[in-house]
Parts: sequence; structure tokens; C-alpha cells
Amino acid sequence: MFEEELNELAEQHLVRTESAIRSAQGPRVLLDGGKEVIVLCSNNYLGLAEHPALRRAVRDALERYGLGMGASRLVSGTSELHEDLERRIASFKGTEAAIVFNSGYAANTGVIPALAAEGDVILSDALNHASIIDGCRLSRARTAVYRHRDMGHLEELLQEHRTSRRRLIVSDGVFSMDGDIAPLPDLVTLAGRYGATLMIDDAHATGVIGRKGRGTAEHFGMSGEVPIQMGTLGKALGSFGAYVAGDRGLIAWIRNRARSYVFSTSLPPALCAASMAALELVDQEPWRRERLWQNRTRLANGLTALGVLPAGAETPILPVIAGSSERALTAAHWLLREGILAPAIRPPSVPEGSARIRTTVMATHSDRDIDRSLSVFHHLKEEGILNGQRQS
Ligand code: PMP
Repeated sequence: MFEEELNELAEQHLVRTESAIRSAQGPRVLLDGGKEVIVLCSNNYLGLAEHPALRRAVRDALERYGLGMGASRLVSGTSELHEDLERRIASFKGTEAAIVFNSGYAANTGVIPALAAEGDVILSDALNHASIIDGCRLSRARTAVYRHRDMGHLEELLQEHRTSRRRLIVSDGVFSMDGDIAPLPDLVTLAGRYGATLMIDDAHATGVIGRKGRGTAEHFGMSGEVPIQMGTLGKALGSFGAYVAGDRGLIAWIRNRARSYVFSTSLPPALCAASMAALELVDQEPWRRERLWQNRTRLANGLTALGVLPAGAETPILPVIAGSSERALTAAHWLLREGILAPAIRPPSVPEGSARIRTTVMATHSDRDIDRSLSVFHHLKEEGILNGQRQS
């Protein structure tokens, strides 16, 4: 079954494979076969996934609560840890309330259809994450896609749809594949001017941007001005799951109406305990965020010197564009052979002609890890495998 389709994918260099890891998620990991590689593609930005405090929190909660909840949240799947975590997230984000989802994918595909339906219009950035795109599709609202970060285009679309019943603007805060940041002040202004509601996906912003790691709103000094803030617990926080933070009424509505929340077995309480431990560490170990940004500067400066870093990348996500999927695959194989794990990111994760190596730095990388990575990119550049250009 599907052999022909798979062959077709292979001809287009679009078959995806996985590398099994057999160690903890550090800056270096052991691959199946025993090879040690530098991880240059993980969203474990603060290095919390292997932190002793998270391990301890999980062990203690496992002892007390066991593993699975055996039911969805609204049946018998809510533990006191779920409620503690929701309160903790609300206080972290400075909102009245928060709700926890099983993943960011589940949050976006659940929340967006709860907020927009037939007769409404969703205005969505062209480079929003796939889970937002799928949430828009599930909602049956009309989706108007504006060019990436193009506020003039967004305003045109808002004008065009000003008589629709409701307007929801959705944007990644930090764009997952390009590492640039949404123009939040303009988004807030336009939402106000056209009576639209604004939702920001802080998957790659939580723990990473803002002075205290609170995300996009804090980064722009606009806490309190984004009514719907979604974020994930499985990236910088090193745990698993996701959240939506906002006012009490909004969260109560989502709790009643988000189908991925209502109809899915709830997150194991041990993971709630891990997420709470991680939120503490974001405050208690600020050196992690400082070190993350130092590492980011080191890698970004090196890639810029090589001429392979596109303008716009402002965060620890630093994309190196290869162009075709074939070139991206060649680059990824070369990197792996040289001890660096950073797979080829190809369509449909990124637009056609912009296949890339999406590098990410972590707080726990050493200078040597980064310099070693840069020297391999230097070779790739010399071999003509990376030119830093998109293919038209
Ligand atoms: N939103 C964005 C912007 C993401 O990058 C991701 C994960 N790649 C998600 C949502 C989904 O989050 P999760 O991995 O928790 O399902």
C-alpha cells in the first residue's frame, strides 16, 4: 500500500526518516549505533528536558498519582496538579486564567474552532504553524491569509471583511521555521481599529523572549494587550503539553467548546508536575536564558560571516536556506556525518524552494559545540551546498 506514492515522494527528495536517540536530551545525544552528535535542531532551548528538578518532580508525582488519568478532563481526568498548573501558568503570564492542553497541536486545533465559525473570518499569517492552519480549516470560518508580517496586507483584508460577524487575527509570536518575531504593536493596533480579536502562538517564545521569558507580549512591553495567548510546555520548558492564557470568561468558554480538550484523555499529572518545576526554573535560573542568547549571538555571528543567514532571524531559531529539497538533504547528511544533528526541513513544513537546515541553539551548548557546528557549515558553503538563497 502507498508504495507508488512513497516512491514519488522519494523522487522529490521528500521522504522523511527519523534518527532514534538513546540518551537523555542534552546538547549532545547518542544515536542508535552509539554515535554521539551535537543537537542543533531541538526546541529544548533552556536545556530543561534533562534537568534534575523535572526528573524529580515526575518521580514524586508518579509515586503519588500513578501514570494515566484514564479519562478526559471533564469526566474524571482533572487532578489537583492540572488545576495547580493552570493557576501557575496564569500567574506566569499575568492573566486571570489558563487552560492546559495535551499538546500545542491540540491547543490550536481546539481553540481556533472554538473562537471562530461559519460567518466569521480568520486572518492568518502566511507562515503560521501547521497546527494553526489546521485549526482554521476545522473552524469552517473563512480564512484570509496575509503575506508574512505584512501589516499593509492585513489591513486590506480587515477592510475587506469588516462586515463579517467576527474577526480573529492569529499569528505565531516567534515564527517556528524562520526565527523572526511577529510585529505585535501593529497587530494590536489593527485588531483595535477593526474590532478583531488577537491570538498569539508563543510556542517558541515562552521561556525564550521577554525579559523574564514570558513571551511575545512581554518582549514588546505589551503584557495585558493580547487577549488570547497560546504557548507550549514541550519546548523551552522541557516538559510536554500546551496552554492558553486569557481572561476567565474566555478560558471557561474554551473549556466547554474546544473539542481537542473535551474529547481527549487528559495529560498525565506527572507531566503537570514537570511543567510547574520548569516554570520555577525559568525564574530561578535566569542564567539559562542569558546563556541561550549568548550562544545565539555566537552562532548567528558565525552564520552571518559565512553569508548563509537570511535577514530577519532574531531568535535562537536560525535557518540556513539550501533552496531545493535535494540540497537540504545533502547538507543534512553531511552535517550528520560530521557529528551534527540538524535534519533537512522541506515542504510542506516550509514553502517550496526554501528547504533548509533549521538550526536552533540551546543554553547548554558549549562554545566548542557552536564553533564545531560553524566549521561544518563553513565546509558546506565551500562545497557550494549552501548558498543562503531561496530558489524562486
Ligand atoms: N505552534 C508552533 C508555532 C509550533 O512550532 C509547534 C510545534 N512545532 C506547535 C504549535 C505544536 O506544539 P506541540 O509540539 O506541543 O504539539
